[in-house]
Amino acid sequence: MASIVYYGSPRQAHLEANETLPAKLDLIMEKLNIRDRVKGETVAIKLHSGSNIGYSTLHPVFVRKVVQAVREGGGTPFITDIDWDVRGAESRGYTSEVLGCPIYPSTGIADKYYYSHAHPFKSIQEWQVAGMIEDASFMINFSHVKGHPSCGFGGAIKNLALGCLTGKSRSAMHDVMHYDQYWFRELCPDRETFECILASCPHQALVEDKKNPGDIHMHFEQCNQCGRCLKAAPAGSLKINPVNFHSFQEAMAISAFTSLSTFAPGKTTHMALATHMTPVCDCFGFTSMPILPDAGIFGSDDIIALETAVLDEIGKTHLIEENIPTSMVVHTREGHPFAWLHGPYKNPYLAIEYGEKLGMGSREYQIVDVLPVEKVLSAGMMYIPAK
Ligand code: SF4
Repeated sequence: MASIVYYGSPRQAHLEANETLPAKLDLIMEKLNIRDRVKGETVAIKLHSGSNIGYSTLHPVFVRKVVQAVREGGGTPFITDIDWDVRGAESRGYTSEVLGCPIYPSTGIADKYYYSHAHPFKSIQEWQVAGMIEDASFMINFSHVKGHPSCGFGGAIKNLALGCLTGKSRSAMHDVMHYDQYWFRELCPDRETFECILASCPHQALVEDKKNPGDIHMHFEQCNQCGRCLKAAPAGSLKINPVNFHSFQEAMAISAFTSLSTFAPGKTTHMALATHMTPVCDCFGFTSMPILPDAGIFGSDDIIALETAVLDEIGKTHLIEENIPTSMVVHTREGHPFAWLHGPYKNPYLAIEYGEKLGMGSREYQIVDVLPVEKVLSAGMMYIPAK
């Protein structure tokens, strides 16, 4: 059976507050029965509080509404995110006075409060799930949607996958992209050729390995799979192989699955705001121009259905190419707009597919618009008088 995804469009018929996204968040929370479900629960509201001078993370107006709903329902809310982003969150408007509840580092002030879970995957043996996440009895996963250099897109899965683990586990997830061998130095004849290969990448994705001079270390985040380096590299010496890219997506799915598995059935729900979507993650510490039109706000108990609906909705729009930083290049116009920017091996749907295989949810969904603009329009045109 298809999972329901509640949706609030960014479009308005009239210039009225009740047609805007914060009001539609209220409607979505009503549909998800959040107030009825949180009575007596300790509720972790997991969001990404960004860093430095970024300003495109969830606006406090949205977060405060979620906190209020939990309080009205008789739950005890707290906001949580990774330690270094919570430190300084007040400079981006996230304070307990504004939001209405405390903000805690998910793994404690020294990133040492966690529970270990075994699930071997390539170079990863254990997943260190944040203590504050696992101690909560209910979780609201509220994400801001944007691009991501490792996996094309960051939304609900990424909010949990990277945000509910210790720094050690996050590093291990990034390192897993290096697990499958991509550099074969014995097939590179000399230093001159080696340096030609490094110089061939316009995005500085290829560097000499600091620990093993003569080896290539690849910054997968910077690679859009343009293939230029393969023309400079002798046959077989360098691989731009999907398996390296896909391993991060699979690790994300396992990570989010592990965090969600610490909650009883029915004790998690997911919401995502797709506005001001930048090329890369909010953890970069700044906000660049939006690369896609706003797509709206989404809510579902099924994280896989939610992510699929978010990507499908964004896929109906177009990349705003004039807003892309001049150092980035669109070299394909196939697939999802996020993959246009980050390359086909960073297909944003992959983590969803891995997550579905793990039993996290279903890609089959039914979207329910909580306030269709057509319906509001038929209620009559609004006249705005000139003064
Ligand atoms: S495929 Fe293109 S972006 Fe990736 S490392 Fe090679 S040259 Fe750089």
